[in-house]
Amino acid sequence: MSDRIDRPERPEPADRPAPADHRRLGRELGLFGTDPLIGSGLPYWLPDGAAVRRSLEDFVHALERRAGYRHVYSPVLGKRELYELSGHWAHYREDMFPPLEMGGEEQLVLRPSLCPHHALLFRSRSRSYRELPFRMAELGDMYRSERSGVLGGLSRVRAIRLNDAHVFCTPEQAAAEVRGALELIAAAYRAMGVVPSRYRLSLPGPGGKYAARPELWERATAVLVRVLAELGLPYEEGVGEAAFYGPKIDVQVVDAAGRESTLSTVQVDFHQPERFDLHYVGADGARHRPVMVHRSVVGSVERAVAHLLERHGGAFPAWLAPVQLAVLPLGPEQEERAAALAGRCLELDLRAEVLGAERGSLGARVRAARPAPYLAVLGPREAADGTLSLRLRDGRRLDPLPVGEALSGIAERVRAHTVELW
Ligand SMILES: [Zn+2]
Repeated sequence: MSDRIDRPERPEPADRPAPADHRRLGRELGLFGTDPLIGSGLPYWLPDGAAVRRSLEDFVHALERRAGYRHVYSPVLGKRELYELSGHWAHYREDMFPPLEMGGEEQLVLRPSLCPHHALLFRSRSRSYRELPFRMAELGDMYRSERSGVLGGLSRVRAIRLNDAHVFCTPEQAAAEVRGALELIAAAYRAMGVVPSRYRLSLPGPGGKYAARPELWERATAVLVRVLAELGLPYEEGVGEAAFYGPKIDVQVVDAAGRESTLSTVQVDFHQPERFDLHYVGADGARHRPVMVHRSVVGSVERAVAHLLERHGGAFPAWLAPVQLAVLPLGPEQEERAAALAGRCLELDLRAEVLGAERGSLGARVRAARPAPYLAVLGPREAADGTLSLRLRDGRRLDPLPVGEALSGIAERVRAHTVELW
């Protein structure tokens, strides 16, 4: 078993953090909301929620960049013909919004996935085997026409920000790319303090929603099974859970109520490269068909934040926390110093909030600041000797430190994306 991938764990009910619903936590913490005039399944992000989301997106972006991914942008719309070519129109239409009529023959479709656009970007010019594996990534928006009855909070939405990537590679490279993607997922989970409940090998089931060509399914499944075996990862088969174009490894997590859902996924696809007639020029000078590995490290940003909220009961790891350092001046005499401290935090790219005496007694302010991982009370002593006495969210109190040292200690941990507070 790879030491870079964690064994799945099904949390016992007692181990679970506060069994709070992410919708309630999101409301209480002022992270996101919905408005009937915008519509259900279309949440908006308030400043604190947007700070969490942006931190997550920046983290994934940097993680992917270090792993050799190249980021692209592609539009959220495409012509209906694009989805006829990809197979979405035939196999996935009931999850898509009705096309926009542009007059004449033209119909535009809000995309239900990013794959077709990425296939077009790959074939926008001739590709050599030397460019492979070509790891193309995008944090892009996509849309799913869910019925309003099934929508709720961030876990089922109609507008989805997906952390997506497609690796175009030779058939021989596919297994290593699947393995690399699973290791990337494991690294992200460690930083987020998330533990998978199980790995699921999602296979096709009965019914016509899957693309035909059994030999392509067998080849793709063989790659996934081989990687799972090499890594020694225990997994269960999920019949009827595959994508319409190929089998996948789904990384499952359990929410506060014990419900399981898929957060991350790795898929091997021999089908869409055929549909899009993708090819690369091999060392032999001939044209060859690449394989597409579809993978998502944190899945949709909405579902990832919902899971993080429930998993941590609103007490995010420091790098994700909307307020990283809560500054509490004891009285009006310390307010100027508190504002200066918040200014230094800004320079260090840390999010600080000053909770002044107008917000109530010190005890009330300490309770109000509770989800913040770090808290500093500024009294006359701290003002006199230029130190900071940090209190950590887990109850620990650090000895007074020079202000610069205390702040750089926090900034270092935030930059390292560690779940340990000190
Ligand atoms: Zn895809």
